[in-house]
Amino acid sequence: LLAKDRNEDYPFIVGGGPCAYNPEPIADFFDFFVIGEGEEILLKVLKTYEAHKDGHWDRNNFLKEIASFYGIYVPAFYEVDYNENGTINKMYPIVEGIPTVINKAMIEDVNTMFAPETMIVPFIETIHDRVILEMFRGCTHGCRFCQAGMIYRPIREKSTERLVDLAEKLIASTGYDTISLSSLSSCDYSSLNILISDLMDRFEGDNIGISLPSLRLDSFSIDILKEIEKVKKSGLTFAPEAGSQRLRDVINKGVNQEDLIQAVTYAFNEGWSRVKLYFMIGLPTETEEDLMGIKDMSYLVRDIYFNRPNESKKGSFGVTVSTGCFVPKPFTPFQWVSQNSIEEFNHKISLVKTSIRDRKVNFNYSDVNLSYLEGIFARGDRRLSNVLIKAWEKGCKYDGWSDQFRFDLWMEALEESNIDGDFYSRRARELDEVLPWDFINPGVSKEFLKKEYLKSLKETTTMDCRLACGNCGIVDCSMRGVFN
Ligand code: SF4
Repeated sequence: LLAKDRNEDYPFIVGGGPCAYNPEPIADFFDFFVIGEGEEILLKVLKTYEAHKDGHWDRNNFLKEIASFYGIYVPAFYEVDYNENGTINKMYPIVEGIPTVINKAMIEDVNTMFAPETMIVPFIETIHDRVILEMFRGCTHGCRFCQAGMIYRPIREKSTERLVDLAEKLIASTGYDTISLSSLSSCDYSSLNILISDLMDRFEGDNIGISLPSLRLDSFSIDILKEIEKVKKSGLTFAPEAGSQRLRDVINKGVNQEDLIQAVTYAFNEGWSRVKLYFMIGLPTETEEDLMGIKDMSYLVRDIYFNRPNESKKGSFGVTVSTGCFVPKPFTPFQWVSQNSIEEFNHKISLVKTSIRDRKVNFNYSDVNLSYLEGIFARGDRRLSNVLIKAWEKGCKYDGWSDQFRFDLWMEALEESNIDGDFYSRRARELDEVLPWDFINPGVSKEFLKKEYLKSLKETTTMDCRLACGNCGIVDCSMRGVFN
């Protein structure tokens, strides 16, 4: 049922989260979206709802009022005009008093904001079945493919006291035995050593473990891991993302081969023996040489392990090379680039696959067809809602489960809707094109994204903004100059 067909009796369908930063492909189904961080703005929306319910209730009036709030987008109040070539001419409000640009909602003080002290504990084992402790929001690395790194700026840390307090409450209310220290780049938390030692002091006697989901390629991260994984050494995952230094500079991934050598050597010396390396395939400007770099890096890790004295080799060694297909995302410096075609992805995957000829190195890769669809919807517009309806009518309901994913039905749905998937996925956009998500202001400016894109073509890197502010457009950024 589309939003326009729902009457006063229906509940509101509300969207949010990072994927909703380009809400347009699903705009027709939702009554409103929360763009940005929902903790505070949702309370304001609920209070407004309460006030309207106490008075004379009118669904439209309520939506009109909240449409003027920071971070609230009511799709029905906006219209889009298209050019003859299918690109967007303009998007504009059709209701008076609502903004033309939706500014993201952002939490200023993450220490005082609402954070859950209880969690639903499922009866079955699920992914992330543990206490999740969010240490900070934002990331300073500026990887050019990463949407989260742009939309969650600026970095805002919770205090160690607040985190230990939350951990105590969450453990008490759930009975979980693991705390996951979660953030975009967890090892960047400025008081990580203190936090871990506080948590271990507090919980060690209760047999509660601590896990660190994302690791930097350095010995500091491995030292921390050593501390929290005293007995069991699970595998280590590193994400060089690209096989060559040239391509890592293009994507502004601030790691080099030396970092990998040092981190892996250190990890092997400390007793780890299994390493997972994550890469992306189809990155802008990628060449065959870059792809062969994936094999070279995995062989390098293998050689580092086997070139060590026999007595220091513990456990059974293995490298897993895992690749994902690159999907250009809105609000990143790569939002204008063409995505690789299915044929290109398959060709590149097969090049890497055939280049790896060592049984100690496993290779796995993501579903190419799924990445093609992701590419369409990630940068899509309102015209895609019809495709969703048709695909649903054809039975596409549980596509998240690979055995239920029917790519053929999605292709039929695109064709019957007269939509050319390549228009969204394969087409490189002009830098001055009006993009479907341009009406949203994520804090980071379009000018900054353009500048970063042009720098990527010159293989020029941008510094981590803990070291130097890159003037990304965030107003009143508390980070600026803090670490300089
Ligand atoms: S304004 Fe500067 S310091 Fe703040 S997030 Fe942007 S680049 Fe980083």
